[in-house]
Amino acid sequence: MNIIMLGAPGAGKGTFSAYLENKYQVPHIATGDIFRENIRNNTELGAKAKSYMDKGELVPDELVVSLVVDRLAKDDCKKGYILDGFPRTMPQAEALSAELERTGSKIDYALNIDCPDDFIVERMSGRRVCPKCGASYHLVNVPPKTEGICDECGSELIQRKDDAPETVANRLKVYHTETQPLIDYYREQGVLEDVDGTIGRDNVFAVLDKLLG
Ligand code: ADP
Ligand code: ZN
Repeated sequence: MNIIMLGAPGAGKGTFSAYLENKYQVPHIATGDIFRENIRNNTELGAKAKSYMDKGELVPDELVVSLVVDRLAKDDCKKGYILDGFPRTMPQAEALSAELERTGSKIDYALNIDCPDDFIVERMSGRRVCPKCGASYHLVNVPPKTEGICDECGSELIQRKDDAPETVANRLKVYHTETQPLIDYYREQGVLEDVDGTIGRDNVFAVLDKLLG
């Protein structure tokens, strides 16, 4: 089962991808996570990506595409995968289509996690993450057991630099101009499913169960 997660930043793609990863035992490939891991490990790729990410801009297509193409070639992707945060531009979508064609593979579902902008802004202002292990929380919706502390590893939680209000506004703008056109691209391919992202995490899980069987 090959799945693409579409939706605005903060729509919950990461949460729903993790759910599907666990349920179907296929890898969850999140380009944002890969970049953040590279930043933590001070790699060359991390240094290149950071300047864009901090401003809420997209990392250039050629950096992202080669990264994902390499990742999809790994053995664990043979049984399927969940792409979270990729593709995010039309050139990325077209590069992915070309690669799938080359390898005789296809996308089964593009899940569009649909949320209005004001909902996104509210949610991102409360998001907190663990700088050490990457776990994600929300002050109101998904609070950690101890305020400000990661449940998984005990580190102090922080607000991602790109979750600052000015950056959120820019990310939404970038989403609408660059990524939203992909919804129609995958709709035309007959694989798009719209999922209301505002109904609460467990309700979305139930919708996904029904949709994917
Ligand atoms: P969110 O979905 O909440 O915006 P991500 O973790 O998916 O967060 O992405 C964080 C940042 O990483 C993006 O704002 C962008 O700078 C960069 N990024 C991630 N995926 C891509 C991609 N496919 N193309 C370009 N930039 C990307
Ligand atoms: Zn942690």
